[in-house]
Amino acid sequence: MFSEKLNLLKGKNLLRRIHDRESPQGPRILLKGQEYLSFSSNDYLGLAGHPYIINTANESMSRYGFGAGASRLLSGGSILHHQLEEKIAQFKNTEAALVFNSGYAANTGIIPALADRDTVLFSDELNHASIIDGCRLSKAETVVYNHKDVMHLEECLKKKAATKKVIVTDTIFSMNGDIAPLREIVRLCRTYDAYLYIDDAHATGVIGKGKGALAHFDIDPEPWIIQMGTFSKALGSFGAFFAGSADIIAWTLNTARSFMYSTALPSCIIAASIAALELIENDPHIIKQLWTNRDKAAHGILAAGYDTMGSETPIIPVKTGSIENTLRIAKHLFEQGIFAPAIRPPAVKESRIRITVTAAHTDEDIERLIEALEKV
Ligand SMILES: *Cc1c(COP(=O)(O)O)cnc(C)c1O
Repeated sequence: MFSEKLNLLKGKNLLRRIHDRESPQGPRILLKGQEYLSFSSNDYLGLAGHPYIINTANESMSRYGFGAGASRLLSGGSILHHQLEEKIAQFKNTEAALVFNSGYAANTGIIPALADRDTVLFSDELNHASIIDGCRLSKAETVVYNHKDVMHLEECLKKKAATKKVIVTDTIFSMNGDIAPLREIVRLCRTYDAYLYIDDAHATGVIGKGKGALAHFDIDPEPWIIQMGTFSKALGSFGAFFAGSADIIAWTLNTARSFMYSTALPSCIIAASIAALELIENDPHIIKQLWTNRDKAAHGILAAGYDTMGSETPIIPVKTGSIENTLRIAKHLFEQGIFAPAIRPPAVKESRIRITVTAAHTDEDIERLIEALEKV
């Protein structure tokens, strides 16, 4: 039965496979003994292999051991978990914060914990899969609005007379690399008395001097704004956080199933996240370099005649049309020693090559990418 299904996927060019890396994550990676220039990871600041992070993690491993042994409510948490939460609350200027094991676990845990039967969730159509699953797991009704379409969102808000409304959006969209119109969305929240839930997975460490989308738009962290973000992308570590009012955090700690029923992250991972936050606070140059590289790549790709689908960030999708053409271009790049993945349905509606630029790429790396794209 599954072999038939698999053949069907293969026939449609939708079968996926994993490339097993034999090196640290970074701008240059080893696959099957061969070096590739990678424009594929979300390690935007090049911190995944940073010596300070590795050393800090190593030291904490000697001190606290490796496995956490239980969920945090049982006995799995360490003092580092608490320190990281204090640091995040400070970083985000909120009353409190809570660490989750991953961004996926955060969205699928927090959204059902906050949205009950009397809630209506208003979700951007391009929100990340973990948000979609969080909405599905909740008892609330979900209304999907057109991507970044504030007028449509307002129509949807007008139509629903719910006691509790929550607008849910990615801040930087993971496949398009565009930014949600948060100022307008915040205005709607005030008019329609709605909460705002934002997913800063790709914004943390990237915009707002690394502090994320609220800082980028100069929006105060009001008590009705709930922010989640991850340590797994620009911060080069693993896990996620959730920042907001003390009440919302305490409620989530007591009700979010992905928090309550999952073993805590190892302390060394928490130590790595703390180290990454220290790095971006102490060295603003890393984020500047990311944006210099991003602008260089985006200009080059546009000048080569490609449509970058509204990208405003280091996520630069290159529109490639059919699945076949997308795979052809990805293969061509791969043969030139460049790893930039083909993204196909169901991850996106329109196939594309998703290019991500990092602070660790050199000018020559970016030039090589653009030359290869010009030749396709
Ligand atoms: C990657 C991502 C997540 C999931 O985070 P993980 O830590 O990888 O589980 C959630 N939301 C968005 C927008 C993401 O891009």
